[in-house]
Amino acid sequence: MRFPGIVLLAITVLVTGCSQPPEQVNVYSARKEALIKPLLDQFSADTGITVNLVTAKADALLERLKAEGEHSPADLLITVDAGRLHRAKQAGVLQPLADSTLEQRIPATLRDPESFWYGLSVRARVIVYAPERVDAGQLESYESLADEQWRGRICIRSSDNIYNQSLVASLIAHNGEQATEDWARAMVANMARDPVGGDRDQIKAVAAGECDLAVVNTYYLAMMASDDDPATRAVAESVAVFWPNQDERGVHINVSGAGVTAHAANRDNARQLLTFLTSDTAQQWYAERNHEYPAVEGIRVSEQLQGWGTFSQDDLNLSQLGELNADAVKVMDRAGWQ
Ligand code: FE
Repeated sequence: MRFPGIVLLAITVLVTGCSQPPEQVNVYSARKEALIKPLLDQFSADTGITVNLVTAKADALLERLKAEGEHSPADLLITVDAGRLHRAKQAGVLQPLADSTLEQRIPATLRDPESFWYGLSVRARVIVYAPERVDAGQLESYESLADEQWRGRICIRSSDNIYNQSLVASLIAHNGEQATEDWARAMVANMARDPVGGDRDQIKAVAAGECDLAVVNTYYLAMMASDDDPATRAVAESVAVFWPNQDERGVHINVSGAGVTAHAANRDNARQLLTFLTSDTAQQWYAERNHEYPAVEGIRVSEQLQGWGTFSQDDLNLSQLGELNADAVKVMDRAGWQ
């Protein structure tokens, strides 16, 4: 009589086994595949959850999420800049995910106060300078870039760039709108040329003598310093890093980060992946691969970044950069920042 019982059990296992779809999570990532894929593969190996990765430009992914609405297959959005993460929250394409592990891992200033997104890696927006034409003693803060001594000597990219918008948003948060507009006007007067190109182009312009200072994200310089091409490495080696505002609030920072999408069908798998991305090993790999600083405290930074030393960072909650984005754009517009 035991035999039919075993058969029944076998059939049950078989049926349940077949009817369960494989566990998966769908990721929309603004990071290039090579900068994230090995980590996602590790997650799949650890958990058995298949990760389906869609990679595209940050703004295109946000538009796609908006257009897809509730039919979007995406479960997790990975993108760069708190300004963009906030934009995604405002657009209604993310949902809150309050999670004690994530809250304990990621410092409060690097995540949305309402848990719509979490920072995963940190970048600082620093001043780079030509040491043969600028003495570090002349440098101090973002505010001091407005000094007349820098007339016609600064390279910085355009005002439609989110990194500059976030920097200006941070200045509004600390100094107010009027003072920031005056600053932006002086910055325009101090530009060596009309804004052109990305952060790497500003570094190249300093190296080429077109300007003496530039404002850039740390990872661009780190990438150039570790480039395969000796000429690119030489450009990076010819400039020096200055950490602004160290005697007071600290350097302006930003994050790459992620949030669970509003209509995630695999919400728990997205949570698991997000939690995995904050683990010690994932944090170290992700930061090193992207030449960034880990978001989790106490993780070793890459050798390249160790060489630049430690620094104090602005502890403004990064969601403020999103809140003040529209004001920052208007301020730069009024100041004539192209
Ligand atoms: Fe970038």
